[in-house]
Amino acid sequence: MLERKIGATMTKILIIEDESELVRILRSYLEKAGYSVITTGRGDLGLVMWEREKPDLVLLDLNLPGMDGLDVAREIRRKSETPIIMVTARVEETDRLIGLELGADDYILKPYSPREVVARVRTVLRRTGPRTGSPNQVIRLGDLEIDLDAHTLIRSGETVDLTPTEFSLLVTLASQPGRAFSRLQLLESAQGSAYEGYERTIDAHIKNLRSKLEPDPKQPYYIETVFGVGYRFRKF
Ligand code: CA
Repeated sequence: MLERKIGATMTKILIIEDESELVRILRSYLEKAGYSVITTGRGDLGLVMWEREKPDLVLLDLNLPGMDGLDVAREIRRKSETPIIMVTARVEETDRLIGLELGADDYILKPYSPREVVARVRTVLRRTGPRTGSPNQVIRLGDLEIDLDAHTLIRSGETVDLTPTEFSLLVTLASQPGRAFSRLQLLESAQGSAYEGYERTIDAHIKNLRSKLEPDPKQPYYIETVFGVGYRFRKF
């Protein structure tokens, strides 16, 4: 039902992790955050995938079958600057240091919250990304400018005040124009959690958002209703 757009411009994350339940959760959160995700449960295959797929960032578990996470990191670092976030259940200080000395860009201790991982991924990508010349990441669509770092929306040159929930909804939708999101997905992306039965609260947020950014809120141009599903941002 959902149309998934995986364009060449999407940021690609490689997850190398052997706990399939973790992979499932991380994939879901990262995809909702607008990333394209590829995964493998083996260290040696991870290296092969890294070479072939050239991801923008690697989320790397330490303890892996096939090849240890440290060796995978070492191999990647020997050949490139691909950002690496080490994920580990080992709490010993030495392991943390080794991870960072290897050139990992950050590390995350298990257990973690998936939202924290998404936040770290964003931070590392922002720090290491190719956009060093322009400090703020901006999405430009039609006469809208969404500044992801300043958390502002500018419409036809004028700043529009949005609540944090409205802003978060807008970013989710506008990050993947043309992709239909269910109400539950939107609720989850806006609040970090979602409960069945509360999906309709999204409609109220969308209504407010439309009144702020649509030229004619009665005939929405930017945020389209997808009947039986939810909403999507107009594809330009
Ligand atoms: Ca593991």
